[in-house]
Parts: sequence; C-alpha cells; structure tokens
Amino acid sequence: MAQDVGKNPKGAERRIEEARRKISAMDLVCSGTLRKRKKTCGRSYCRCATDPEALHGPYYEWTRYEEGRLVHRTLSPEQAMELEKAIANYREIQALLCEWRRESTAIILGIPKRKSG
Ligand SMILES: [Zn+2]
Repeated sequence: MAQDVGKNPKGAERRIEEARRKISAMDLVCSGTLRKRKKTCGRSYCRCATDPEALHGPYYEWTRYEEGRLVHRTLSPEQAMELEKAIANYREIQALLCEWRRESTAIILGIPKRKSG
C-alpha cells in the first residue's frame, strides 16, 4: 500500500483534498485530557467523608500543557462537552496532518528527475 502512493499521485492529491476538507470543517481544537471525577469536600461532618456513594460531583478536570507548564482547570458540564469534541478534533487533525505529510512526500518523490547537463 505505502509503495503504491508514489505511483498514484492522482490518488495522493485526492487524499490531500479530503484531509483539507475535513480540517476546514472543524471549529474548536484543544489539547490535553479531560477527566471526570468525584471528590470529598473536606468537611469531617459531611457524608462524603465516610460514604463513597456521597462524594460530590462529578467534576470535570482539564489538564493540558501551556507554554511548557502543566495547567489544571475545573470545567462546567457544558464546557466539558465542548472540550471533549475539541480534543477529538485535535487528535483527528494530527492524524490528517500525518496523512497529508505522507501523501506530500509521495507526490514530491514522484516528480521525475531531470537529467542534468
Ligand atoms: Zn462533602
């Protein structure tokens, strides 16, 4: 399959076009991970201190790197829903870019060399 793309620059252009179309249809793009968790509130008299069923939440925690530093944020359920989509978009864009780069390589290597001299 991988050896095929070089012989098939038409297919490569079509696949690049497809990747561009998918990327341009996306709106929000975010990195990091989203975790859903329940917590104790720290009050010794609260039920959550002894009963795991009485934990508070769920809370949505977004962990990401920003300028080389790990950043945590707590999100509302609405924000978490949007973030989930944005993270999925980001992963898909990375996969599409990989494909775009692979097909570009095939096209460039498929350009016939001119005889020098
Ligand atoms: Zn509590």
